[in-house]
Amino acid sequence: MVERQLKARGIFDERVLSAIGKVPREEFISPELREHAYEDRPLTIGCCQTISQPYIVASMLQAAQLRSEDRVLELGTGSGYQTALLAEIVANVFSIERHPELAEVARQRLSRLGYTNVEIVVGDGTLGYHPRAPYDVILVSAAAPQVPQSLVAQLATGGRMVLPVGSRDLQELVLIRKDETGIRQMRLDGCAFVPLIGEEGFRE
Ligand code: SAM
Repeated sequence: MVERQLKARGIFDERVLSAIGKVPREEFISPELREHAYEDRPLTIGCCQTISQPYIVASMLQAAQLRSEDRVLELGTGSGYQTALLAEIVANVFSIERHPELAEVARQRLSRLGYTNVEIVVGDGTLGYHPRAPYDVILVSAAAPQVPQSLVAQLATGGRMVLPVGSRDLQELVLIRKDETGIRQMRLDGCAFVPLIGEEGFRE
């Protein structure tokens, strides 16, 4: 997976590759799908949701230019796989999931695997998570119709946000940087995520 799906497509950030080498992706997938854990595609995780394709996860992590001291807000815990990768690289991860069942399974998994720098919250991530703001990095793993302004407000100066923006079916990955002068936006790859459902997202 690392050689053919990631390095061959331009993933070179050593912190990202090292985290991917450490986290056992099969632990985040139901037993009947485990043989497919390292395939180049998303897989179902219940509640009509998916664990994202490894390449797209790596692309988002690389685009975020993670540093060891960062405090990260993640929207869409899902299986908890990307949460674990973040927890390997940065200081603190605050992850929001709207489905309580997925949040509970991810919480138990991450605890069993020994991650102590992760907090999982159930709620509507489109509004961010005020109690721990501001964040150095915000990663959104579901498709937004536009950039949620609550998230921009909770991004620290010098912060980066990576999110898919577009329609329910097709989006572009966007990198947002916030500095003293304002916001700069850069388009990255095309992608297809499940929708971000919430007040500043799509309707259910
Ligand atoms: N990164 C995850 C992983 O590694 O398994 C996969 C995330 S999955 C593609 C998208 C997740 O976003 C789903 O679990 C979905 O329930 C969640 N989601 C959608 N809208 C949300 C919202 N407003 N707040 C929090 N989570 C949301």
